[in-house]
Amino acid sequence: MTKLAIAVNVGRCVGCHTCSISCKMSNNVPDGMLWNRVLTENSEVIDGAVGVYPALSRDYLPLACQHCENPACQKVCPTGATYKDGKGRVEIDYDKCIGCRMCMAACPYNARVFNWTEPVRSAGSNYGEADVPVRPKGVMEKCTLCSERTDRGDAPMCVTCCPARARVYGDLDDPDSEISKIAREKNVRILLEEMGTSPQVFYFE
Ligand code: SF4
Ligand code: SF4
Repeated sequence: MTKLAIAVNVGRCVGCHTCSISCKMSNNVPDGMLWNRVLTENSEVIDGAVGVYPALSRDYLPLACQHCENPACQKVCPTGATYKDGKGRVEIDYDKCIGCRMCMAACPYNARVFNWTEPVRSAGSNYGEADVPVRPKGVMEKCTLCSERTDRGDAPMCVTCCPARARVYGDLDDPDSEISKIAREKNVRILLEEMGTSPQVFYFE
C-alpha cells in the first residue's frame, strides 16, 4: 500500500509563503482563495506576532488539508464526492460535488474553500499544471497533495519550492522513507488530535 504524507519542520520555516504561492500557481487556485496558508500561532492575522514590543515572538504554521486518516469531511459528504484514494490522499470528485458545503463546516482545519462565483484568475496567471482540472462555480476545492504531480512521482509543488527545505514528502508505508523516519524518530505533533481525524501532516522541529 501507499500512504502519502507531508511533514513540516516548523523550526526551519521562515514564513516566506512560498508554499502558499507555489501551490496557488501550480493548481491554478482562483483569486481570493488559498489551498495552503501560512498562519502564525496564537495570532489572528497573517504574520502576526505574540507578546509586547520589544519582547515579540512569531511561530509559523503552514496549514493545508491534513489528508486525514479519518476525514470528518468525507463522513458528511452526501454524494461521495469526497473520498480517500488508494494512496492515502483525500480528494474531491468535482463532478459529484453539489456545493452543499457540509464538508467545509465539518473540517476542523478550515482547509476547504468554495467557489461562490465563477472563479476569477488574474490575467496571465493561467500557468498551472496543465493536468489540473479547472473547478467551476459551486464546487468545493482544497489541497489535493498535488495529485497530478504525485501520481507521476514528483513531489507536491510546496515541497519542491520551499527555500528553507522545511517540508518533507513521502510514503509512510515505506519504512525507509525520510518521512517514515521522521514520524518514528522525531517528536512529531499533529493538529487537533482530540478531534479524532488522525491527520497525515506532521509538524516537528
Ligand atoms: S515555503 Fe517553506 S519556509 Fe516558506 S513558509 Fe512555506 S514551509 Fe515555511
Ligand atoms: S483536513 Fe479537513 S478537508 Fe482535509 S481531510 Fe481532514 S477533515 Fe477533510
